Amino acid sequence: MEYSPKKVKSLLEEKDFNFKKKYGQNFIVDENIIDAIINKSQIDETTLVLEIGPGAGALTYKLALKAKNVLCYEIDTTLKDVLGNNIKEFSNVDVIYKDFLKENISGEIKKYEYDKLYVIANLPYYITTPILIKIIEEEINVDKMVVMVQKEVGDRFKAKPNSKDYNSLSIYINYYFNVKKILDVSRNVFLPKPNVDSVVLEFVKKEQPHLKNKELFFTLVRDSFKQKRKNLRNNLKNYNLDKIETILKKYNFDLNARAEQLNIDIFIDIANNI
Ligand code: SAM
Repeated sequence: MEYSPKKVKSLLEEKDFNFKKKYGQNFIVDENIIDAIINKSQIDETTLVLEIGPGAGALTYKLALKAKNVLCYEIDTTLKDVLGNNIKEFSNVDVIYKDFLKENISGEIKKYEYDKLYVIANLPYYITTPILIKIIEEEINVDKMVVMVQKEVGDRFKAKPNSKDYNSLSIYINYYFNVKKILDVSRNVFLPKPNVDSVVLEFVKKEQPHLKNKELFFTLVRDSFKQKRKNLRNNLKNYNLDKIETILKKYNFDLNARAEQLNIDIFIDIANNI
């Protein structure tokens, strides 16, 4: 029998499920949203899907219908009953009841054969950034991510220069992925209803621009944004300012510019030439 997210409420109530705020538990109860995420993801029978936080399985069920395998990490063991019941007909779903942030994900993924690796998830909002950083730093090598995040956080991930949300995190993420918003999601489609709206973002792996020294690049970017209102001359006091100014001039900027005006290519040029 097909699982409908609309049944989530009665199912969870029947099991007397106690939603845990500390785990960011807001479950999707609108099938249109699930279908939109699935359709945008373009999963096929060669795809391994990594889902962080399957909850009651609203997304998991439909991921399992399309993907080769679905590997889920769920921290809350009290969901075993409901989730297990909702996905019991599938042999291609594995659920690891552990904290995603503490596990060796790349080791686990090696056990699977696949052509493409996608992360598809309605992320627990309290750890959205640590999850993305882990995926990047652990070099899990995902081809694409389609993830639901809190709207304000999503604005930062996809921010472009000269916008209020553009910061060092936007550049960090943009070094690895092209990011775009694919869906606005109202707070009314969740149970319980959160006090923020959400967006679904798509992150597509991109060819990483050449960096002589990655660490220097990310330190330079963080330092440039250290005090947002200050210009580069002030934030980068400890660097060779003459060299930086020469590079900035190529782009019609000088040391009075602020970090938020510079795109990722300018930061890369500076990092590679100081
Ligand atoms: N995917 C479900 C849905 O859309 O209805 C649930 C999404 S809910 C926003 C986030 C889920 O992540 C919850 O089930 C929560 O228990 C789980 N979670 C929270 N922290 C986690 C962690 N560190 N590792 C794995 N799962 C986690």
